[in-house]
Amino acid sequence: MILPKYRDRYLPDLTSEQIAAIPNKESVPVIIPTGAIEQHGPHLPVGVDSILGQAFLSGALPLVPDDVPVFVTPPITIGKSDEHRGFPGTLFISTKTLGRLLTSIARQLHAWGFRTIAIFNTHGGNISVLRYTMREIQSELGMRVVHLRPDYKPPLSPQEDAYGFHANEMETSCMLEATEGLVDMSQARCEYPARVGEAGELRPEGAPATYTWITGDVSKSGIVGDATAATPEKGKEWMENYAQSLAAQITKLSTWAKQQAKK
Ligand SMILES: [Zn+2]
Repeated sequence: MILPKYRDRYLPDLTSEQIAAIPNKESVPVIIPTGAIEQHGPHLPVGVDSILGQAFLSGALPLVPDDVPVFVTPPITIGKSDEHRGFPGTLFISTKTLGRLLTSIARQLHAWGFRTIAIFNTHGGNISVLRYTMREIQSELGMRVVHLRPDYKPPLSPQEDAYGFHANEMETSCMLEATEGLVDMSQARCEYPARVGEAGELRPEGAPATYTWITGDVSKSGIVGDATAATPEKGKEWMENYAQSLAAQITKLSTWAKQQAKK
C-alpha cells in the first residue's frame, strides 16, 4: 500500500498526545477510506480500489486550505468483494465484519471526542453495507455520518459509462497515472456484459430490472469495460479534476461539521 502524502492529517502519524490536543474535535470531521483487494483482470493488480482511494486523497488533501481541519484514519483496505470469490488474490470480509469494523472505528473516534465521520469509498460492492452501517452509527452513537462522493465524472462513451464498471477505462487510466509499473497494457481487454441500445431489460446494472451478479456472470477476463481505451494522459486529467472536486467537497464538509456542532 502506498504511504499517504497527507501526513499532517493522517491520524497514525500523530502521537496520542497530539491527537488529544486537537482543538474543537466535536466540529472536526474524520475521513475513513474504504476500498477492496480483488481481482482486476489480467492487466491490473488486485489492490486497485484501495490504491486509488489513497491516490485520490493524496491529490485532494493538499488542495484543502491549511486552516480547514480534517483528519484521516488508516484505510479499510479489505472490503466486501464476494462477487470476485474464487479469483486468486481476492481477499474479502463478510457484510457483518465490514459493518462491525466500521462501527468499531467510529466508536473509538467518538470516545476521543470526534462527532463527524466521512466515508470515502472506492469499491462499489461496499456501498450497501456502508449505507445501513452509517445510519446505525448515527442512531446508536449520535454521530454525523457523511458519504463523500465527488461529482466529477470523466467524459466516457455512453457504452463505457453504462457498462464499464470494473477494471475499466477509468480505473486503468488512473492506475497508469498513479502508479509505476503496475499496469500491463498488453493484457488489457474490452469486455461488456451488454450493449447500450440493444433490446433487453434485465441487465446487471443500468436497467429498470437488474440481477445480482458475480464476476463469472458478466466477464471471462475479469474486466467489465474497455481497459484498452485507457491512457496515462486521461488518467492525469481525470485524477486532477477528481482531486479538485473531492477537495471542494472536503472543504464544504468541514464548514457543515462546524455548523452542526453549534446546534
Ligand atoms: Zn475497482
